[in-house]
Amino acid sequence: QRSTVIITGASSGVGLFAAKALALSGKWHVIMACRNFLKTETAARAEGMPRDSYSVIHLDLACQESVHQFVRNFRQMGRPLDALVCNAAIYTPLQKKPQRTPEGYELNVGTNHLGHFLLCNLLLEDLKKSSHPQRRMVILGTVTANPKELGGKIPIPAPPDLGDLRGLEAGFQDPVTMINGKKYKPGKAYKDSKLCNMLTMRELHRRYHQSTGITFSALYPGCVATTGLFRNHFWLFRFLFPKFQRFITGGFVTEDTAGIRVAQVVADPLFSKSGVYWSWGNRQKSGRESFVQEVSDEASDDQKSVRLWELSAKLVGLT
Ligand code: NDP
Repeated sequence: QRSTVIITGASSGVGLFAAKALALSGKWHVIMACRNFLKTETAARAEGMPRDSYSVIHLDLACQESVHQFVRNFRQMGRPLDALVCNAAIYTPLQKKPQRTPEGYELNVGTNHLGHFLLCNLLLEDLKKSSHPQRRMVILGTVTANPKELGGKIPIPAPPDLGDLRGLEAGFQDPVTMINGKKYKPGKAYKDSKLCNMLTMRELHRRYHQSTGITFSALYPGCVATTGLFRNHFWLFRFLFPKFQRFITGGFVTEDTAGIRVAQVVADPLFSKSGVYWSWGNRQKSGRESFVQEVSDEASDDQKSVRLWELSAKLVGLT
């Protein structure tokens, strides 16, 4: 019997290739949690995933009702849950005016952070019930949201900064657009949401690792400059960015490599440590080993992660 892993946003990019690596290992059944059924099914087939190695269940992380419906549909399958990968994300760097979720929250944070926050909280109950020896919850982090790494120091459009969370405290609806309550900066909204992912992973670890034995971790798979994440950027950026990363910074990794790295963090006994952020560095070298990357001061601020947790729980209707 294969173990079961849910991967959000498995219709393309890192999520698709992680699904492929786990499905082809022969040990995992992958639940591809995606908003576009046809795109996902087509991608799974194109990557040669055996028909009985995956299922597609609809999930739109921007919509809280959809998250609840996804969990109901998953439970109806009657499978245990052994691992969860929070991978889906949007990035809208050129957006002039903030887009909103049905609940009225800014869309980057609403999707990447709040949608996953609700999903993690609901599925924690399922992970607790699994008898798998290595249950894991894995969140995709990124270098641009971590000022302890070079890529995170670049101040364009602004470094991540959640401030005193006053935007969340005020309800995060119109006219509020940013977590720190300041002016709307679309590229920063993405970085903020990924910083929230990191704080959430650490808070999950603090609250639940000891009592449940579940491993909570995050990873930066490398710069996968060819994925759909950059679809909303200038065409010139999309053209030059992969070349820049491949030939100048040396940070470029293929989707296949990134997928294999995610699969390792899900399934390899070497990655059983909880509460950490894995990286393979910003300059790729063949055979380079993974290591635990230090996170920024803000991402390791325990008071902030507690407050973020409380405010997020309120916004997704958990309290
Ligand atoms: P892609 O755009 O290729 O993949 C993003 C996935 O998220 C797609 O499957 C997309 O679905 C899905 N998604 C977007 N919005 C929603 C939603 N509302 N509900 C459900 N699914 C949704 O990007 P990547 O593969 O590059 O990104 C995957 C993860 O990797 C992200 O968390 C990103 O932050 C992280 N990452 C990426 C890096 C990179 O260099 N590319 C570097 C570091 C981290 P759809 O097909 O329907 O649009």
